Amino acid sequence: MSIHSEIEWTEATWNPTTGCHKISPGCANCYAERFAERWRGVPGHPYEHGFDVQIWPERLKMPLSWKKPRRIFVNSMSDLFLDEIEEEFIQEVFSVMGKANWHQFQLLTKRPQRMLEIAKKLEAWPSNVWAGVSVESQAWTWRIEVLKQIPATIRFLSCEPLLGSLELALDNIHWVIVGGESGVHSRPMKIEWVRDIKNQCLQSNVPFFFKQWGGVQKKKHGRELDGRTWDDFPINIEPLVNRQLLLL
Ligand code: SF4
Repeated sequence: MSIHSEIEWTEATWNPTTGCHKISPGCANCYAERFAERWRGVPGHPYEHGFDVQIWPERLKMPLSWKKPRRIFVNSMSDLFLDEIEEEFIQEVFSVMGKANWHQFQLLTKRPQRMLEIAKKLEAWPSNVWAGVSVESQAWTWRIEVLKQIPATIRFLSCEPLLGSLELALDNIHWVIVGGESGVHSRPMKIEWVRDIKNQCLQSNVPFFFKQWGGVQKKKHGRELDGRTWDDFPINIEPLVNRQLLLL
């Protein structure tokens, strides 16, 4: 089964695990949970068990069969570093990512402590695996300090849904994504918060990607800030050309 994602900063998604638990305020209106729970109880559907945490060993080798290089968002429907996911399985995910070295894997978590724990046990962090943390408000900026200890070539922040102003220490950070929350229960994002992060990125020479304003009609609100879009990627990255291949 495949879906068209509206994630603007990636080309494909790969979910060797699905399901998750809420851990911080950014999770309150989790889109993945909303999507997964719609299918709970539908026999044979990948989300028959809704948002319960599940591992999918049969999906492990999928990226190896995709011959065209892609930017792949790992676990758009989960968090690879949940406590209940066995370390052995996470190591297998890393092994596949390392082998599929024609792709770039974008690994985003709200649980960077476990990511660091795993990183310390790897022989080497694969150079094609980007490491990112979600930072929705100032109280969660400690995740950035943990991220900085991960030996990834590209370390990034996803400030989405942005819930307040942020003062960021951007040394050793290579990319910042900002986005507002969408949907009927979306919480508002102030333009000053976004502009301030954009300015911090410009001052520190860190690529800035503005994903969306969000809101109830997210398409209507668009993704321009101060008269233009902001679609910067880490320096060695080509512009997005094909983000139609999106797999559950
Ligand atoms: S960590 Fe991510 S996937 Fe998990 S509940 Fe929170 S927002 Fe959803």
